[in-house]
Amino acid sequence: MLVTRREFLKTSAFTAGVAITGMGFALGPVEAHAEQLRKNIEGATRTTTICPYCGVGCGFVVHASGGKVINIEGDADHPINEGTACSKGSALYQMAGGNNVNRLTKVRYRAAGATEWEEKSWEWVIGQIAAKIKATRDETFTETNEAGKTVNRTLGIGSLGSAAMDNEECWLYQKFLRALGLVYVEHQARN
Ligand code: SF4
Repeated sequence: MLVTRREFLKTSAFTAGVAITGMGFALGPVEAHAEQLRKNIEGATRTTTICPYCGVGCGFVVHASGGKVINIEGDADHPINEGTACSKGSALYQMAGGNNVNRLTKVRYRAAGATEWEEKSWEWVIGQIAAKIKATRDETFTETNEAGKTVNRTLGIGSLGSAAMDNEECWLYQKFLRALGLVYVEHQARN
C-alpha cells in the first residue's frame, strides 16, 4: 500500500497521541484544536502552492471555500519544508484578500515634502514610475567607460527583487533590466 507523507504523519501523530495519553499526559486542547481545524476545512478546495516570501521555496496547502481563502498550512508532502513554516510563512493566511483589513488595496502617494497621502490610480502611478526611470536613465546612461571600452550601462538605477516571481517572470524581468542597461541587479532571497 502506498502511504503519502501526509497520511504517514497523521498516523504517527495519532499513535504518539495514544501512547502519550497512556502515560498520563493530557492532549485535550491540542486534539480539540486539530478537530476544529479539520471541521473548518471540510469540503474546502485544496490547492498546493509555493510561499512567495523568499527563495527557500517552501510548499503550502491553501484551503478555499466560497471564493475565500480559509486556511493556509505547510505542505507535509513538500520535499523542502516537509510541512513546517518559518514565522513569515506561518503568517501567509493574512496575505489572502479580505483576511487582513490592514492590507493596502489601493495606490497611496505622498509627494516629496508633503505630509498627507493621496489615493492614486494604477495608470497614474505606472506612468510616474516609467517617466522617472526614463529621466534617470537618460541622465546617467554611459556608452563607454574611462578606458574607452563599450559598456552601454546606467549606474543610476538599481533593482532589488523579487523572490515572489516565478521563473518566467524572472526571465522577463532580467531581460527588461539588462535592456535598460542596469548593472546593479540584486535579489533579496540571496544569502
Ligand atoms: S519565508 Fe519562510 S516559509 Fe516562506 S519560503 Fe522562506 S523559509 Fe519558507
